[in-house]
Amino acid sequence: SKVFNFCAGPAMLPAEVMATAQQEFINWQNTGSSVMELSHRSSIYIKMAETAEADLRALMSIPDNYKVLFCHGGGRGQFSAVPLNLLPVGKVADYIVSGSWSKSAAAEAKNFGNINTVDITKEVDGNITVLPVKEWPLTQDAAYVHYCPNETVNGIEINELPNTNGVPIVADMSSTILSHEIDVSKFGLIYAGAQKNIGPSGLTIVIVRDDLLGNAQHATPCIMNYKTTADNDSMYNTPPTYAWYLAGLVFKWLKAYGGVKTIEKVNKAKAELLYKAIDGSDFYTNNITEQYRSKMNVPFWLTDESLNEQFLQEAEQTGLTALKGHRIVGGMRASIYNAMPIEGVQALVEFMQQFEKRNR
Ligand code: PLP
Repeated sequence: SKVFNFCAGPAMLPAEVMATAQQEFINWQNTGSSVMELSHRSSIYIKMAETAEADLRALMSIPDNYKVLFCHGGGRGQFSAVPLNLLPVGKVADYIVSGSWSKSAAAEAKNFGNINTVDITKEVDGNITVLPVKEWPLTQDAAYVHYCPNETVNGIEINELPNTNGVPIVADMSSTILSHEIDVSKFGLIYAGAQKNIGPSGLTIVIVRDDLLGNAQHATPCIMNYKTTADNDSMYNTPPTYAWYLAGLVFKWLKAYGGVKTIEKVNKAKAELLYKAIDGSDFYTNNITEQYRSKMNVPFWLTDESLNEQFLQEAEQTGLTALKGHRIVGGMRASIYNAMPIEGVQALVEFMQQFEKRNR
C-alpha cells in the first residue's frame, strides 16, 4: 500500500515532515490557529521564520555576506528578477543553455537586456554530451553568467564551475539545492523554487551576495527587488507563510538526517542503483553522457515505446507514481529528490526488472 511518488515537482516531502505538519495543522504551537491563519508580523511567526533561515544557512554554510530571501513567483519569477536586478542597461549577461529550463531563463531575460546565449549540449550518435566548462565561450566583462546545474526535464547535471574571472555566477538550483554540498562563496546568486527539495510550491529561495544588491533596473517591480526584499526581511509584502513554515520543517528534518553531506551519499547511491538498472538492460536506455547524468531527475526510455502506457499503468498499480517523462522528451522520468528513500528506488528497479521479464 506504500506509494513512492516520483514527481518532478511539486514533489514528495519527507514522511516525518508531513506527519508533523498534519499534527500541527489546525493548532500550531498551542495558538489555537493554523500557521496559515497567523500574521507574518506576529512574534511567534517571525521566530519560526528566523529559525528556518538560520537552519538553511547552517545546512549550506552560507557566508555572512549573503542575504537569504524568501520570495514569491517560483523559478520563473527569478527568470525575470535576475536580469532586472543584476543587468544594468548597456551591459551583457551570458546565459549557458544546457536544457529546457536554462533555455527558458535566457528567453525571459532577453525581455530585460542584452543576453548572449551559449548552447553547450550536442548530440553525438544519439547521445547527448556537454561542452566542458573550460571551453564555455564567455564574455569578458559580462554582468553575470547564468546557468542551470541540474536540468530537471533533460536530466543533465553540471558539477564543475567555470572560471569567470570575477564575473558573478548565477545558478538556477531549483532541482538540486540541498542535494549535495556546494561552496556558496563561489556564486553571486543562487535561486531555487521550493517544490522539489525544500517544501511546497509558492516559495522561492534566493541567496545573493551583498554587493549585488541595490543596482536594480528602474522598472523593477518592488516585490522583485532584492534590496527591498532584503531590507524588509522578506516581508515587504505578505510572504507565502505556510510554504515558509513547511520549508522550515524540511530544514530541521535534513539537519536531523545528518545534513547535506549525509544526504549527498544517499542521493549518489540512489542514482547509481537506478542508472545501473537502466544500463544493465537493453530494454531501457538513457542517452546522457555518464559524467553529466542528473542524480535528481533520471529520464529513461523503453526501447519498445509501444509499452509506455502499460509500463506507467502497472507502475502506478504497484504504488510507483508520476513516472511519465516530460512531454518535451517523452519516455519516463524518475525524480529522486532528497525525500525519496532508497527503498523507493529499490522498488522501482525491482518493478522495471519484473516488467522486462513479463514483456520481453
Ligand atoms: N528552473 C528549474 C530548474 C525547474 O525545474 C523549474 C520547474 O520545474 C523552474 C525553473 C520553474 O519553476 P516554477 O514553476 O516554480 O516557476
